[in-house]
Amino acid sequence: MARLLAAALDAAGRGWPVFPLCPGTKRPALHGHTRCPGDGPCATGHQGWEQRATTDPDRIRGAWTGGRAFNIGLATGPAGLLVVDCDTPTVPDGPDAGPPEEWAGATGGADVLARLAEQAGATLPVTFTVTTPSGGTHLYYWAPGGIELRNTAGLLGWKIDTRAHGGYVVAPGSITPAGVYAVTVDRPVAELPGWLLQRLRPALPPAVPVGPIRTGSGRRDRYLDGALRAETARVHQAPASQRNACLYVASVALGQLVAGGSLDETEARAVLLSAAARHLALRAYSRRQAEQTIASGLRAGAKRPRRIEDAA
Ligand SMILES: [Zn+2]
Repeated sequence: MARLLAAALDAAGRGWPVFPLCPGTKRPALHGHTRCPGDGPCATGHQGWEQRATTDPDRIRGAWTGGRAFNIGLATGPAGLLVVDCDTPTVPDGPDAGPPEEWAGATGGADVLARLAEQAGATLPVTFTVTTPSGGTHLYYWAPGGIELRNTAGLLGWKIDTRAHGGYVVAPGSITPAGVYAVTVDRPVAELPGWLLQRLRPALPPAVPVGPIRTGSGRRDRYLDGALRAETARVHQAPASQRNACLYVASVALGQLVAGGSLDETEARAVLLSAAARHLALRAYSRRQAEQTIASGLRAGAKRPRRIEDAA
């Protein structure tokens, strides 16, 4: 326990706010908003782990000398860090063991990251690195000022996540049944390379018009325009919790029109994807996830063809 306290103080000494994780795990030990008692630190509203993470040595001593061997969560956003988390397949023969075709031959996220560097004609800067019990690596970089980078999962490539605002990493010194999080490259934290920033910067919505592409004058075209506009709006205005569900429902509706011969499938895909652009820009889901949702919606719609002549 003294070792965990020392590790927590060490992280805080570097200016990285920490908070307790349940002993032996990666889970925050602080209550979530659904169980907020509304007193103590939450007297004026719930404080999540990102708000409660601290560099104050007294508060850290208080938390880590209470008799529980807390692991250490490091809140990457307030620390000014972007941590690249390169993982390896957890089960050697599991369904996730091999990389997708795009990354054929890679054995894990570290290989993929090395290829990304090569593609950019750059080398990975040496930086503070932590090795995880599962054999993954956490590469620490200073996040650039003036731009709020959020967490990503698989955006950079197979087996690579990143943690920034809204995220945390398990800090070195923490212990799980699988082993210890250990500093394996004890060098100063490097600036996030520009070529990585380029890939992580929230994408600007594409210049494609978000509305329907068709311009027709007949009754059929007017109906089709209306349908495309309605489904586009449904996706575009979806509340955060229903983004994927709305995209699916819209895809089913357009899939019915495709199957009925009223709409070209390529056009349906383009309209749906451009309607999802706002959510893609917010990193609500990846382009690939959006395409998968669209594809499965179109497939479901194809089972119930609908002709505009019938509907109009
Ligand atoms: Zn609370």
